[in-house]
Amino acid sequence: MTDSHIGGPVLWPRDEPWPYCDGSTHTDHGFDVGDGRGVHNAFTAPVQLYRRDFPELPFPDGTDLFQLLLCPLFHEPDADTFWPDVRLVWRDSRAVADVLAAPPEPALSEPIHRARPCVLSPCRRVEHPTPHETPEGVSRDGWAEVAVSTKVGGWAFWYASGPGDMECPECGARRELLLALHTYERAEPEFCFEPEARPVGWDFSDGALNVWVCPGDVRHPIKVNTD
Ligand SMILES: [Zn+2]
Ligand SMILES: [Zn+2]
Repeated sequence: MTDSHIGGPVLWPRDEPWPYCDGSTHTDHGFDVGDGRGVHNAFTAPVQLYRRDFPELPFPDGTDLFQLLLCPLFHEPDADTFWPDVRLVWRDSRAVADVLAAPPEPALSEPIHRARPCVLSPCRRVEHPTPHETPEGVSRDGWAEVAVSTKVGGWAFWYASGPGDMECPECGARRELLLALHTYERAEPEFCFEPEARPVGWDFSDGALNVWVCPGDVRHPIKVNTD
């Protein structure tokens, strides 16, 4: 509970209600569980990252713990693809005295949206945008490919789609990639077609679940996409 990981136990205050998805945007698109429309579903909490391990994350003042929650069903798209619903929590771990022992299990979940417990061994690299997001007139000479593994920060890989509307609906700022949770982890993070095991267990259409946040305020509306 007190380390950074994917798929393990999270630090959650016992007196804070566990988040539930109201089911209003569930679809019958599910591969394995069928029609989830209207099903009240407990979120899962597959990712927690501490500031001491990932100081580059845009932690709001007074917070040191980032948690990503996910409703593991398919939700109605804003384009033509489907993905799990995502919520972000930024909290002060030092304020959590009484810890929830075990979060509720979702009533329904797509197996491909569930992660196996994984510890993290991060490395740092410099990334430049793909042609999709390179400003006009800027030369891409010498720029390496973006990493196609799980990462925080950097730039999206963009395989089947493109950036679309990046503008924050609240303040108009251009949202930035917070993290990408990838289907595959690779020994060489930029080598996207390397046949690899799937250590994390989930599958985001063979690509990544990308989450963007507003640089002005991470609590402004987020953007989510799988590609
Ligand atoms: Zn849901
Ligand atoms: Zn904003």
